[in-house]
Amino acid sequence: LFISFEGIDGSGKSTQSRLLAEKYDGALHTREPGGSAGAEEIRALLLTGDPDRWSAETEILLFTAARRDHLEKTIQPALDAGRIVICDRFADSTRVYQGATRGDLRATVDTLHGLMIGREPDLTFIIDMDPETALTRGLARKSGEDRFEDMGLAFQETLRHGFLSLAHAHPDRCILIDGNRDTAAIAAEIAAHVADRARH
Ligand code: C5P
Repeated sequence: LFISFEGIDGSGKSTQSRLLAEKYDGALHTREPGGSAGAEEIRALLLTGDPDRWSAETEILLFTAARRDHLEKTIQPALDAGRIVICDRFADSTRVYQGATRGDLRATVDTLHGLMIGREPDLTFIIDMDPETALTRGLARKSGEDRFEDMGLAFQETLRHGFLSLAHAHPDRCILIDGNRDTAAIAAEIAAHVADRARH
């Protein structure tokens, strides 16, 4: 079973993906960009430097390269070994961040995905969250090292809409979760969905 978590920064997806991974013996918790040695190196290239370090197109190529390495070296071997893989962000992040915030590049993202990745998670939790609250949370734990930080409220609103429309477009795979609740309630809802899916 391959499960991804998506949402805007500060939505709680990292916490929720960890809590879920702790419930399953042998589950692999991983994240993007990163999750393999090569992809972590690409992450460093992506997240550091000037905001205009990469063009939108180059950024898509780098995220896709990182994902390909992550899939080859980490995700696929774990799935082949029968482990549950829980990933904090996957291709939906690229569809929304690179596909919808720097012009309409969604077709480019999808074409590259088809060529180089070619698979989706079995289940994707999209954690929906009030952008203002998420932004406050995100800024509270700001590292100062991530060039995507500090993009502002309008940016967060665009992302939120991108994730909502993905959830509506792929109801078979995506489950929309109301993230404006306490951590335990959200975790319980997610665990129930996974238990249900694991039975089928
Ligand atoms: O989820 P995480 O905080 O590790 O992501 C690191 C940064 O990369 C975030 O600021 C996120 O907004 C950005 N990002 C992005 N495009 C992606 C994935 C993440 O701009 N496809």
